[in-house]
Amino acid sequence: MYDREAEEGTRAACETGMKAVIMAGGRGTRIASVAGDLPKPMIPVGGKPVLEHIIRCLASQSYTDIVLVVGYLGDTIRDYFKDGAAFGVSITYFVEQMPLGTAGALFEMLRQGTLREDFFLLNGDVMLDIDFRRMETYHRDKGSWATLFTHPNSHPQDSALIVADETKRITKWLNKEDERSFYKNRVNAGVHIISVKLLEGLSVSGRVDLDRDVLKPQAAGGRLYAYDSPEYVRDMGTPERYAAVCRDYETGKVAARNLKNRQKAVFLDRDGTINRFRGFIRRPEEIELIEGAARALAQINQSGYLAIVVTNQPVIARGECTIEELERIHERLETLLGREGAYLDDIFYCPHHPDKGFAGERPQYKIRCDCRKPKPGLLLQAAQRYHIDLVRSYMVGDSESDVLAGAAAGCKSVYLGSGGISCEPWAVFGDLAEFVRSCIMTEE
Ligand SMILES: [Zn+2]
Repeated sequence: MYDREAEEGTRAACETGMKAVIMAGGRGTRIASVAGDLPKPMIPVGGKPVLEHIIRCLASQSYTDIVLVVGYLGDTIRDYFKDGAAFGVSITYFVEQMPLGTAGALFEMLRQGTLREDFFLLNGDVMLDIDFRRMETYHRDKGSWATLFTHPNSHPQDSALIVADETKRITKWLNKEDERSFYKNRVNAGVHIISVKLLEGLSVSGRVDLDRDVLKPQAAGGRLYAYDSPEYVRDMGTPERYAAVCRDYETGKVAARNLKNRQKAVFLDRDGTINRFRGFIRRPEEIELIEGAARALAQINQSGYLAIVVTNQPVIARGECTIEELERIHERLETLLGREGAYLDDIFYCPHHPDKGFAGERPQYKIRCDCRKPKPGLLLQAAQRYHIDLVRSYMVGDSESDVLAGAAAGCKSVYLGSGGISCEPWAVFGDLAEFVRSCIMTEE
């Protein structure tokens, strides 16, 4: 079997990663109980500055070439990190004599020849623990000019949203004030890989805003990609968020979410589990949440489990709904959940159906596949993408095929409902909320 850890270890030992530029300027903060006027990157989490956590995460994956962009209060940062030797990295400093915005320094460094190849661009005041190698590989495979780490969050309605096509190519960038009705919950987390090719093509100088002046105008150009990941990346912009980050660090959630580590998931059926069952759903407006389902999902989101939908959608094979229409249906589902502070880490669906002979059917989907539940294919796909330990995971659904698919994948299969089924589930509950109360909340 493919030994991911061993391979990464070998690679990490012999290869130095791309340069990482960390924006560590900006204003100070008096957040929470932190005394004095600390620069934001020096805010302590678990007794260490948040910037130290970022640098140690980079160092552990052989990203040792680091540029810190500092300005106001930069001396505090320089005095602490010095040349980086104490942290196993080499740090150089770019000092902004005047504020250059979130990207102005990049263009200065480009002119000075400091930036010659693709590089990571990070914010020094964001708590994270991610598999940088995985993201770099993705960036290179896509031939991307800018790769944005994207994830769902609990407040998409007041976040800028990234819209991408099925290849993850970014097609639109929706700011808070831009019009949007139903949308995929995909938010820019502020972790990027930027190609110098992108910067070289722009003639800007002085104060430059990365999002407004560099990325957003390129969104429709076809060379920017979204990197969807459930790993931990959180800003600490309010006392509440700061407290949450400290809590997540103490409980180990920050580190556990790094995709180098095995993940655990709650796999969820869609119709009858999250949204009301009303036969085949063919239009977005037919999606209506089950009472209490969003709250239960939000609780899963706050736990150590990923929330992943696995759903049979034979409406595609039957010709009753196109892939695009199914995407609209899922956008409505994600929007309704987002309004209640809940999100899905991903959705996997089977478009197939085995029985031929219906008017309007699409022959290419009329096959016996490995992904239609009760087969475990969708769960296995998800497990591969997110490094999931199936034995520590749940499959939750309201039909026998869910129970069988979960069991076939090696998960704990949970049946929701009271009707008799011919197989033996791991547990039975009335609804998703009851499952979460009984199995997820008790574990934390
Ligand atoms: Zn299938």
